[in-house]
Amino acid sequence: MKDVSHIRNQFPILERRVNGKPLVYLDNGATSQNPKSVNDAIVEYYTSINANVHRGIHTLSQEATDAMENSRKKIQAFINAKHDYEVIFTYGTTDSINLVARGLEGIIQNGDEIIISELEHHSNIVPWQMLCQKSGAILKYIPLKEDGTLDMQVYKNLLSDKTKLVSVNHVSNALGVVNPVEEIIAEAHAVGAWVLLDGAQAIPHKKVDVQALDVDFYAFSGHKMYGPTGTGILYGKEEILNQLNPYRGGGEMIDTVSMEKSTYAGLPFKFEAGTPNIAGNIVLGKAVDFMNEIGIDFIYEHEQELIKYTREQLATIPEIVVYAKDAPGSGAVSFNIQREGVHSSDVGMILDKLGIAVRTGHHCCQPIMSKFEIPGTVRASFAVYNTKEEVDELIKGLKMAVQMLA
Ligand code: PMP
Repeated sequence: MKDVSHIRNQFPILERRVNGKPLVYLDNGATSQNPKSVNDAIVEYYTSINANVHRGIHTLSQEATDAMENSRKKIQAFINAKHDYEVIFTYGTTDSINLVARGLEGIIQNGDEIIISELEHHSNIVPWQMLCQKSGAILKYIPLKEDGTLDMQVYKNLLSDKTKLVSVNHVSNALGVVNPVEEIIAEAHAVGAWVLLDGAQAIPHKKVDVQALDVDFYAFSGHKMYGPTGTGILYGKEEILNQLNPYRGGGEMIDTVSMEKSTYAGLPFKFEAGTPNIAGNIVLGKAVDFMNEIGIDFIYEHEQELIKYTREQLATIPEIVVYAKDAPGSGAVSFNIQREGVHSSDVGMILDKLGIAVRTGHHCCQPIMSKFEIPGTVRASFAVYNTKEEVDELIKGLKMAVQMLA
């Protein structure tokens, strides 16, 4: 297993004790911790730049604008977008997906079809239900199989010339399953449909190249990739973003405004109405620097080893059932103590007493839980600073929980 002590040193929060025990933070799928460089950059921004972007002639405003646009360029390079104006600053994955769903109003027509999957986070379900209600379009679901993977045969059968959009996650937050997105995109494009990938759980863990994927939209959050909350990105292909309607009106996103009507600015500003999260957007660039310095390949390989080790160790506890245990995994492992009357939150509470932070419940993925006929799971989710020793602590804690909940 790789030595990550030099990385851990950059995360002061990992030195905390919780309930008298050293913190073992395994809730990175919900939000990852920030390195000192990111936290320092937030203070630095408010201490020495703080000004509104894009509208000022004065020095501070220009510095803030340059810093934010520089961050946009870093993110462009990070995901290999063709142009920086294809990178839209949003407030998170949820906001990015809503931007597309609202932007498609008037484009998606009665009788058109949108395909999502049973493996989605609620933020990749509800906006499409809302769009379908408004437009009369039909929402179809790729079924989830028992092994935690999508039924690709059914997917192929669902596709037709009525399909206008396919929107699925790149990696599932609830099960940690990596979806076959290349195939999903190719099949959708073959019928002329656009594809949105919810990359919230992929971008912190693996290389994402939007041009190689040939994906039409890619959505992700800053706070799951060592960056601040309230930041996010929507990547979209230029020619498609140009067709979408802006979903929020206001300052910054206009070209001209008269009493009767307005014309809109070009990309990316058309979608960035109002004062953005300037500090957050700038500092997201620092999170990208942090990931680049470590290297996405290092992050990927280290976390793959953690996933493999966790799955192996969980398999030694007979009372534990692991979901999607043989599926291609990334970032997270989901499991339960399989015993009548034991809820995932019981396990989470015992682990918390031991200083171990995991997430329990339905993970905003109720359709998956109904498919598996369970109320929830325990999810351990990883970042590059996690260690094999922390997995050992988790396993020790789970063995204790098995005894206590007998
Ligand atoms: N999609 C997935 C797969 C996620 O894991 C999450 C966050 N749990 C979201 C969407 C929503 O992200 P946010 O709350 O940052 O908007």
